[in-house]
Amino acid sequence: MIIVLKKEASEEQVNHIVQCIHAWGLRTNVSRGIERTVVGVIGDEALMATKQLDAFPGVESVVSVQKPYKLASREFQKSNTLITLPAARAGDQPVVFGGPKVVVVAGPCSVETPEIMREIARYMKAAGATMLRAGAFKPRTSPYAFQGLGVEGLRILSEIRAETGLPFVTEVMDTRDVEMVAEVADMIQIGARNTQNFSLLKAVGRVHKPVLLKRGISGTLEELLMSAEYILSQGNQQVVLCERGIRTYEKATRNTLDLNALPVLHKLSHLPVAADPSHGTGYADLVTTMARASVAAGADAIMVETHPEPAKATSDGAQTINAAEFARMMSELRAVARAIGRDI
Ligand code: PEP
Ligand code: MN
Repeated sequence: MIIVLKKEASEEQVNHIVQCIHAWGLRTNVSRGIERTVVGVIGDEALMATKQLDAFPGVESVVSVQKPYKLASREFQKSNTLITLPAARAGDQPVVFGGPKVVVVAGPCSVETPEIMREIARYMKAAGATMLRAGAFKPRTSPYAFQGLGVEGLRILSEIRAETGLPFVTEVMDTRDVEMVAEVADMIQIGARNTQNFSLLKAVGRVHKPVLLKRGISGTLEELLMSAEYILSQGNQQVVLCERGIRTYEKATRNTLDLNALPVLHKLSHLPVAADPSHGTGYADLVTTMARASVAAGADAIMVETHPEPAKATSDGAQTINAAEFARMMSELRAVARAIGRDI
């Protein structure tokens, strides 16, 4: 059971509710977000059957949620969550996830030189993409592979944002870096390898920055939603779920992009859902097709890797599309979006 408090509920009212619940023999989890405070009730709800909590001062509503994830569930909130990234510069448009427009997030796998980043930002913006991606801290399978530019990468991303007005998302891998990355980035990415790093999830739950949460490489959708719940339970309500392909027995592709995940996540959760056909396929020649399929299946955002010379990209070149392929993908995605009553 979840108790949603009124915006203006006082600290005394919250404490009174929590003390009553404890006195009835149940436990609580209080999550104080910027927009609302919610009290999760843990234990045998039958003990509260006659208590009329919705009449307590400060209570807005009491919601009974059967799923193990509560705040992330459609039962808790019927309407779609909209996540808005403020405009990067005066006069630029904000980026909204979960609305009628499909957001296209694009960029190289890893942050490259300022010159290459500038070129990528220019051609992707010209083609209609509204948000930049690139990793400064890279989760690599091999400790000997390029690990990213680190803080210098964040500086380059900020410079390109100031020049182009494109907000950026970048991955954080270490709890010690969360506040620093949240200071500069417009959105924080939690990578597939960290989807069940619960300390990291709690840490990003404590900052007020939208989070792009990737599905784990072998994670079920319920596990993904439980990971989102970790973030939401700390008070950060701004989570975009991202299908990025899962490991299956199929070897023809790097991962298997699970298109079912898109409608299933929309059914189970009110959070916006993104698809990453670059990691989902592993091959540049499959990316556009699977991006189209993802928009058709209801993705609120598409994240793709692009580079002017994919063969020279510092990581993930094989799944990276070039400028011409990117422009073609954008016009095809626009057509698919319009066919289903959306836009890009
Ligand atoms: C990435 O987006 O570059 C990345 C590392 O993604 P994932 O965590 O899905 O592998
Ligand atoms: Mn990558």
